[in-house]
Amino acid sequence: MERVATVEVSPNLALNKYWGTRDNMPKNTALHNNVAVHLDGLRTTTTVRLSDEGKDSFVINGKPVSDKDFERHAKFIDYLRGELGFGSRVNLVSQNNYPTSAGLASSAAGYAAETLATVKALDLELPETRLSYLARSGSGSACRSVPYGGGFIEWIVKEGYARQLAPPEHWPDFRVVVGVASEGEKEISSQEAMKRTRQSPLFEKWLSNGEDDYQQIRRGVLNKDIHAVGEAAERNARRMHRLIRSTGVTYWNAQSWPMADAVEALRDTGTEAWWTSDAGPHIKVFCLQPDVPVVEKTLRESGALRTIVSKPGEGPMYADTHLPPVKTLSA
Ligand code: ADP
Repeated sequence: MERVATVEVSPNLALNKYWGTRDNMPKNTALHNNVAVHLDGLRTTTTVRLSDEGKDSFVINGKPVSDKDFERHAKFIDYLRGELGFGSRVNLVSQNNYPTSAGLASSAAGYAAETLATVKALDLELPETRLSYLARSGSGSACRSVPYGGGFIEWIVKEGYARQLAPPEHWPDFRVVVGVASEGEKEISSQEAMKRTRQSPLFEKWLSNGEDDYQQIRRGVLNKDIHAVGEAAERNARRMHRLIRSTGVTYWNAQSWPMADAVEALRDTGTEAWWTSDAGPHIKVFCLQPDVPVVEKTLRESGALRTIVSKPGEGPMYADTHLPPVKTLSA
C-alpha cells in the first residue's frame, strides 16, 4: 500500500513577534511568549509520499527547492527520522495559494504541513503538543500553525510548543487586511536576519520589552478589544523593525512606509486600524469587519499592489486527494 498523506495548513500571523534566538537555548526557542492568528483563506497543501529507495525530494509550487533550501528541508527530515524512528525517504510536493518566501509566513505553514503529512503518512498518532514541538524545529513559527482548532494561538516558551488560545468563532469580526507590497521573494531569509540581530545594540532592549506586549495582546484577544491588541501589536512590530534595521537589513520597500503612515493617519480620524509587518515588505492591518472597506482603500491609495482580507482561520485539515508526484533529479 502506498504510504501517502495530504494536509492543508494555514500560515499564521504573529500579533507579537517571535524574533531572535539565544545561543544557549534549543533550536528555534522564542524569546517571548507570543500570540498569533491562523489566516483564513491562505492555504498550504502538502502531500508526503514515503519510499524505501531514492532520496528525499522537495517540490514547492511546481519546482524543486534550491540547493540551499534542500539542505534545510533534508536536515529537518533527518531530525524527524531521529525523533520518530523511521528510515524511509520523504518525497514532498507542496503548493501555496499565496506568495512564498515573501513575509506571509509560508515557512510556518510549510514546515507545519511537512510535519503533519510525514507523521500521517507513517500512520502514527501523536498528541497535538508533540506535533507542534516537532514542527518548531523546521521553523519556529511553524509550531503555531499546528493546533487543530485554529483561531488564536499561543506559544508558551517554556512549554516549547503552541496551543489554542481561542477558537475562530471567539472573535468572528476580527480582520487582517494585508497590503501586498511586492510579489517577489525576499533576499535574506528570516533565519539569517534573526542571527544578525543578536549583535544589535538594541537586542537587550528587545528582550526586556516583550512580555508586556504579550500580556496586553493576550488579554486583548480574550476580551475582544481591538484597541488593546492593535496598540501592543503595532508597538511590537515597530520595535522589531527598528531592531532589524539596526543590523543593516531592511525588509520594507517604497510601498511599505507610505502604507504604514496612511494607516496611522486613518487611525487619527477615529478608525481602529493598527499595522504590523513581518520579515517582508507587506503591511498587515488589524481592524474589525465594518472597517475593512476603508482600510483596503487606504492601503490601495498609499501603494498596495493588491489587498488580501483574512479572518481567524481553521486549523490543519487532512485530505483524501493527493497532489500528483513530481519526479526530480534527486529523488
Ligand atoms: P516566509 O516569510 O514566507 O515565511 P522565509 O524565507 O522566512 O519566508 O521561509 C521560507 C522557508 O519556508 C523556506 O525554507 C521554504 O522552502 C519554506 N517553505 C515555503 N513554502 C513551503 C511549503 N509549502 N512547504 C514546505 N516548506 C515551505
